[in-house]
Amino acid sequence: MKSSALLLGILLAWLSQGASAAADRIVLPADIVPLHYEVAVAPDAAALNFTGSVKIDIEVRQATSRIELNAADLTFSHAALSGVAQEPQVAFDASEETATLAFAAPIAPGRYVLSIDYAGKINNNAAGLFYLDYDAAGGKKRALFTQFENSDARRFVPCWDEPARKATFTLTVTVPSDEMAVSNTPVASSETMAGGSKRVRFAETPKMSSYLLFFGLGDFERISRTVDGVDIGVITKRGDTAQGQYALDAATQILPYYEDYFGTKYPLPKLDLVAAPGLSQFFGAMENWGAIFFFERDLLLDPKISTEDDRQGVFLTVAHEMAHMWSGDLVTMDWWDGIWLNEGFASWMENKATDRFNPAWNVWLGAIGSKERAMRVDSRAGTHPIVQPIHDVLQANEAFDTITYSKGMSVIRMLENYVGDDAWRAGMRTYVQKYAYANAVTDDLWAEIEKSSTVPVTEIAHDFTLQEGVPLIRVAALPHAISLTQDRFAVDDSGKAPTAWRVPVVEKALGGKGEWRELVSRDKPAVITLANGAVPIVNAGQAGYFRTLYDKTLSARLAAHFRALAPIDQLGLLNDERALGYAGYEPMTDSLALIGRARAGMNPQVLSDVAGQIAALDVLYRDLRGRAALRAYGLRVLRPLFTKVGWNAKPGEDANTALLRSDLLAALNQLDDPQVIAAARSRFAAFVNNPASLTGDLRSSVLDIVAAHADAASWEQLHSLAKSAPSSLEKRQFYLLLGQAHDRALAQHALDLALGDEAPVTMRPALIRSVAEYFPDMAFEFAVAHAEAINAMLEPDSRNEFIPGLANVSHDPAMIAKLDAYAGAHIPATARQMTVKVEASVVYAAMVRDKRLPEVDAWLKRHR
Ligand SMILES: [Zn+2]
Repeated sequence: MKSSALLLGILLAWLSQGASAAADRIVLPADIVPLHYEVAVAPDAAALNFTGSVKIDIEVRQATSRIELNAADLTFSHAALSGVAQEPQVAFDASEETATLAFAAPIAPGRYVLSIDYAGKINNNAAGLFYLDYDAAGGKKRALFTQFENSDARRFVPCWDEPARKATFTLTVTVPSDEMAVSNTPVASSETMAGGSKRVRFAETPKMSSYLLFFGLGDFERISRTVDGVDIGVITKRGDTAQGQYALDAATQILPYYEDYFGTKYPLPKLDLVAAPGLSQFFGAMENWGAIFFFERDLLLDPKISTEDDRQGVFLTVAHEMAHMWSGDLVTMDWWDGIWLNEGFASWMENKATDRFNPAWNVWLGAIGSKERAMRVDSRAGTHPIVQPIHDVLQANEAFDTITYSKGMSVIRMLENYVGDDAWRAGMRTYVQKYAYANAVTDDLWAEIEKSSTVPVTEIAHDFTLQEGVPLIRVAALPHAISLTQDRFAVDDSGKAPTAWRVPVVEKALGGKGEWRELVSRDKPAVITLANGAVPIVNAGQAGYFRTLYDKTLSARLAAHFRALAPIDQLGLLNDERALGYAGYEPMTDSLALIGRARAGMNPQVLSDVAGQIAALDVLYRDLRGRAALRAYGLRVLRPLFTKVGWNAKPGEDANTALLRSDLLAALNQLDDPQVIAAARSRFAAFVNNPASLTGDLRSSVLDIVAAHADAASWEQLHSLAKSAPSSLEKRQFYLLLGQAHDRALAQHALDLALGDEAPVTMRPALIRSVAEYFPDMAFEFAVAHAEAINAMLEPDSRNEFIPGLANVSHDPAMIAKLDAYAGAHIPATARQMTVKVEASVVYAAMVRDKRLPEVDAWLKRHR
């Protein structure tokens, strides 16, 4: 899965207190093994329900008189077991989402066929079988899709809905004959029925987990290409195939690369990338085996509105989901506590594959931002180890978070860098071959890597995956040397307990040729000989997951040579200095002085980071007197950078300069720069008369600025553009703009729109989230007041996270009590991780405002 949400949850500290995981899991009894499902489904898209029947080949391993399996929101009309004359009694447990079939006499061990006829619902959000409505040339249309991760296959078919219960599936669907049906495997047969319908039977799947089954239906078109004998397709709504060409090209490049990397052929005859109109608050794409689901924004490019960020995002997302075809689908984690094996790995691989085919994008510099987000969460209350006990499905939902994805990715990158590319890949290959069509636990991976590596890796891997937190490497100047010692970085009491890691550290001297590689730990500091006056770069290349704190002497030396550092090390230094300053490890002024060293012409990703840091400071300065001084300083740093890149792309400009232009405009927009606002307004006026006058990145930036500073008239203009937008991608863009207004009354209008039925249903929660970026308190209170209506729009996976998440950028300490009150009334005690995380974020922002911003005020006064 690839997350789309800006705010992803983290887990409660108590989860990390080492509960014995396996014993506490809520899972189905192991005495019955599903082998094959023969599923037949007939959806009624208009009535929003479906009928189904399933025949499951099972093996009973121990005599039992009860068969328990998963079922949610399903009703059974008939159930029978082959060779057993008596019909079983069926009992449902709605909270456990199970059905139990009780027989009068025990069933002897052996093979049976369990048959169930049932009916279910078609949902309005991405859980189980769900619908998405959209406007098409001929009027409103409805398409159907399924979304089962992590545990919603049970809403589609009664099944053993756990990742380790792998089985084969054969799906047959009865559908309108003029629509296209899609599943994991190619169509094996299609037969015309009476009344304008057809019965489509798909080929049997390989042995796989239930959460990977997929079914899609609609007025679709498909473009395709055969690569290495695999039929790769992109499936879109009728008329949109041109927008899928880029993704098809990407998939064509990526497939042979992965086959080579994993040393294993792609295991299915076809691979479809399926685009769906709409969005989810929980995810952007899902790796159903052979039929990857994407919300349109993550797969399609519309030259009119798509930005460079969208383009790179599509490549990365396609690469992420395709990596899952091996890591996740072919080899699957044994239980949800190993979800990081799927997600951390795919997040790392998406960068590796994207970098291979688009070296100019420098995606590893971009990945520093992802590591930074992980470290932010990992250094305060509410963090958890990468590998964590997962008790039940609710907790599994919450595991799809920044730690799982971004820390997972960063730790894999660090370990690959430590053992070397070749050894890592050799280990990956044997791991995939050994556990193909089966399940694995994290230690199975380490065991294979260990075999191919010349250095031990398991202990280091355990340090970083089984314990939470961010290591801190303190670097001190000695005569002719530097010393490295290991500590822990934390912004609150979460880091009080001393924690030991074996930290792989790479050091270089600026301008020097060689590098040092050390394993630094609490009881084993390192001393590295270095010429006096040399400039040491610790964590050179930034593959390490830790923060670096230089002493005063070294810090000053690095700052003085900042522009001579490699861009990735400039980024690393900027991020470390910012985090260390905010947390009080060193003066904020070091970070501010470093920002001041930014110059036009430096690496665009480094300058984007500078722009982001200034904008983030401005957010913290909300309603404070010092804000004007910060803004004056921000404009002094950012305007020259913007003057150099300008409003319009230059011929032959590199992709990342387009990203920098957008990031600078976003920061200047945040600073309310009057020059930028005026220029954007005049471009918008021209756009209203001639929509072709703005496309892609510039269109997106101009609309953002106009929306943020909208008055009632321009807000209404955007509103009517939203209503009349011809495509769902454009609709999405305009509706989300309506939530960005900095005018309180207009923001309230946007919130009210989210409760009405004008905007497409999946965009309504996103509209509330859009308001929350500027008015977190207002959006949160609005959502609490209408919790029932809003939660009904969300897939169950999002319900415990969405409303607390709205408060994430609040800095008002009074928010804590409000969050507690909401969680106490609406969120089960085992699912309040997002609430804990948001509370930690609010407390931290309030602390920075209170303790650090006065330092910034003083520094700004001195540097007026
Ligand atoms: Zn994923």
